[in-house]
Amino acid sequence: MEEIKMNEKNPSIAIDGPAGSGKSTVARLVAKKLGFVYVDTGAMYRTVGLYCAENAVNLENIDEVAKALEDINIELKYDDGVQHIYLNGKDVSSAIRVQRIAEYASKVAAIGAVREKLVEIQREIAENGKVVMDGRDIGTNVIPNAKAKIYLDASVEVRTERRCHELEEKGISFDKNVIRKEIVDRDNFDKNRKINPLTIAKDATIIDTSSMTIEEVEDRIVKLFIGEVI
Ligand code: C5P
Repeated sequence: MEEIKMNEKNPSIAIDGPAGSGKSTVARLVAKKLGFVYVDTGAMYRTVGLYCAENAVNLENIDEVAKALEDINIELKYDDGVQHIYLNGKDVSSAIRVQRIAEYASKVAAIGAVREKLVEIQREIAENGKVVMDGRDIGTNVIPNAKAKIYLDASVEVRTERRCHELEEKGISFDKNVIRKEIVDRDNFDKNRKINPLTIAKDATIIDTSSMTIEEVEDRIVKLFIGEVI
């Protein structure tokens, strides 16, 4: 594996896990508590997915996707600790949060050229600041020397309930069985792809959030992190 420079005084927290395990909510809170920068790497894959959807890029054609990457510029900006993601200068933070784009994201995330481009950006961010970074391959691939590695999990039932609750709050109608299937299918695809699949890092702490509150998970991660560096 390629050597990644990491200042020992500049520790990071890597959080991985399947869709709906609560990664982004918890990662945001932990980052706020510790004064770290929260980096949502899923948003980057979603942004590439959005570009491909908007420009009718054929996801079955790897060369076509690799060519499209040349026209994609991704920037992360922070407003009061909240990450905003820009695609070629346009804030797409809301546009990427729909199911169709989640599916596009999962498909483009299986393509080597896409991962190379995004992992390079992610490593650069992690080398230059204290981050809480969440995704699927953060502890195993992006920052394997992170000070704390967490694998967040929850039962499919709980993750389905959480997703349905989110949609309810947004006033979007849904079919629970369809939501469940979307979650299971995306996880299977992410776990079984050839390049950097979702796996549990050997040295990760697994936290099953099924019957935990967000605050309990946050507290556990902060304690694990403090325990690691003191
Ligand atoms: O976390 P989120 O659901 O926004 O991620 C969207 C998709 O991006 C995932 O289903 C996965 O395929 C991909 N992803 C990835 N590696 C990461 C983060 C996300 O492959 N580090």
